[in-house]
Amino acid sequence: MTVRIRSALSASRSEEIAGLAEAVADEYFPSGKIDPVAIARTKEITLSFGHYENAFDGLLEYRGGRFHIFANLDRIEKTDSPRARFTVGHELGHYFIDEHRNALSTGRALPHPSFSEYESDLLVEREADLFAANLLMPTGRFNQIAKREKTGLEGILKIREQFGTSVTSTAIRYATSDFVPCAVIKWNEEDFGWKWLSNDTFGAGFRKTVESIKDLPEDSPTARALAGERPPSQGFFEAGTTAAAWFRYVREYEARNVIFIEQAVPLGRFGVLTFLYPDTKTLSSNAGRNMY
Ligand SMILES: [Zn+2]
Repeated sequence: MTVRIRSALSASRSEEIAGLAEAVADEYFPSGKIDPVAIARTKEITLSFGHYENAFDGLLEYRGGRFHIFANLDRIEKTDSPRARFTVGHELGHYFIDEHRNALSTGRALPHPSFSEYESDLLVEREADLFAANLLMPTGRFNQIAKREKTGLEGILKIREQFGTSVTSTAIRYATSDFVPCAVIKWNEEDFGWKWLSNDTFGAGFRKTVESIKDLPEDSPTARALAGERPPSQGFFEAGTTAAAWFRYVREYEARNVIFIEQAVPLGRFGVLTFLYPDTKTLSSNAGRNMY
């Protein structure tokens, strides 16, 4: 089981990779949706879509002086699905990040099966995921659009349509952009998967979350989504909750036990995603409570 609080990449390395990805996006697609397959073609990287069961999402191979991307339809489903776009973006990360490309072309690294969308904890995989997220959702454009949208999943579902990205990658991109203090928690069908917390807004007490399906209140949005209930027309379940219900070291009597909004969206065979953020109306009244 992996518990991911935030990327282990250093801030400067993250900035470097995000900047590289944004520069590539701006060079090839200065406006509109980014098409990673077209970028691969421009760089004379060949690409094939095949059926490889659960072996990988994508794989970058270097042979005879050329790069080739294999993409696995058994996991990405369609050649233009959001997961396919992220996977090709991830493999392009292994090409555009100098250290990754040089390691492959000199034979220092063997081609490796890549699992996209934050399923791997390996550093090179995180770097390639970060590249993909910033290639498909370049910072300047992402901030501009995200700031106009509503907080939480309602906004995230709209943002993802504009970028052609998955709910998961868009939610993580949103959380790491620090628009609001928030947590993104991924559940597999049977178990806790991983979580991302927005950077500086969660103090030490807002780190340890509920990490077991059996600890979820029965009628919570997340429990309902995991039970396979059909979400309302907006596409996700939503309810008010408290910090103490979700964060292990927050006590009910504490002032920081503020009201949170819990939202949960089913991801089909990839499980359920929970999005948590404080209800700002109760936050301001709690700030008053802290003063005496
Ligand atoms: Zn990879």
